Amino acid sequence: MSIHSFHPPVRTLMGPGPSDVNPRILEAMSRPTIGHLDPAFVGMMDEMKVLLRYAFQTTNELTMPVSAPGSAGMEMCFVNLVEPGDKVIVCQNGVFGGRMKENVERCGGTAVMVEDTWGVAVDPAKAEDALKANPDAKILAFVHAETSTGAISDAKTLTELAHQHDCLVIVDAVTSLAGSPLMVSDWDLDATYSGTQKCLSCVPGLSPVSFNQRAIDVITSRKSKVQSWFLDLNLVLGYWGGGAKRAYHHTAPVNTLYGLHEALVVLQEEGIENSWARHQKNHDALRSGLEAMGLSFVVPEGQRLPQLNAVSIPDGVDEAAVRSILLKEYNLEIGAGLGAMAGKIWRIGLMGFASNQTNVQFCLGALDAVLSSMKAPVNSGVAVDAARAVYG
Ligand SMILES: *Cc1c(COP(=O)(O)O)cnc(C)c1O
Repeated sequence: MSIHSFHPPVRTLMGPGPSDVNPRILEAMSRPTIGHLDPAFVGMMDEMKVLLRYAFQTTNELTMPVSAPGSAGMEMCFVNLVEPGDKVIVCQNGVFGGRMKENVERCGGTAVMVEDTWGVAVDPAKAEDALKANPDAKILAFVHAETSTGAISDAKTLTELAHQHDCLVIVDAVTSLAGSPLMVSDWDLDATYSGTQKCLSCVPGLSPVSFNQRAIDVITSRKSKVQSWFLDLNLVLGYWGGGAKRAYHHTAPVNTLYGLHEALVVLQEEGIENSWARHQKNHDALRSGLEAMGLSFVVPEGQRLPQLNAVSIPDGVDEAAVRSILLKEYNLEIGAGLGAMAGKIWRIGLMGFASNQTNVQFCLGALDAVLSSMKAPVNSGVAVDAARAVYG
């Protein structure tokens, strides 16, 4: 048997994540591994917290990366805030709201589901009705940027409503962080989690989280022990909390954290408002090209995520075949539909480093060529020019 080193193909990643990783980040990750209690590493962790507060636009002390992917950040919020018997209102307008329900139930809580059509924003009026009908609810949970459908919800309004009814909020900001305005402190979000492989363009495997004082008060006055040892914030804080003495909790993923540090430095250099504006601009150009081709968006205008574009499949087109040709001939990955949207849409990501003019035009040109060769009902040869016109 002779198995050799693994050399992945070089792809352009324009799906729902992971997105293209900035080479600066890969380079940072190849620097020498040091001990995770080394003073030099501890200094890097302190910088990381400052940089993460900037990314989340927050002054929350308790802002740090969980050593596991976005799903673990989700779980950290639920296992620490939900105790057996607690009632949690979960707004669902896509796949990820369903995972929140799973989390609530596995914590011994009761999930009250507020369902919205997949592909539209969470309706604040429905959330308010649920808050009124469930005065004993403790938490309102919702997804800010629903990656499965491409819809953005109004996190500020939903949080105001929750607070009016004495509920905390748990907010999934995995895809919104760095791609769409997210103001953790201004909007007073209580528990927010994100991921590294979407608009931060870092490698998968870390989950930045941020908790405000209201959330910390609830966690420190729990009646029962958090059922997860690894995700128990009371223990993790001994490591990430700062202070004179750092206790060993788990071995931090040292080199992955170098990568996140670099990703956050890149974000700081660009400026977060500029990052939001860049995502919007590239979305506008992609949209112009897709619409010129005759393709249509699933999400109504005004509720669309610039970083995740959900597009209907033209009639009679084998959507999986298109994705397979794009991958084989163009080294281009776009996403399939997830859950109820499987087979009905493509999800074209323009996240972080991948959100640029070259990718927009490359993707449109490739889609145009493949769909035209299949005799799909699209307008050929106009998409790229329509996008270029947006850039001026
Ligand atoms: C990607 C994603 C997650 C899960 O993140 P992983 O890093 O895959 O665990 C959770 N919520 C949303 C909205 C996402 O897009």
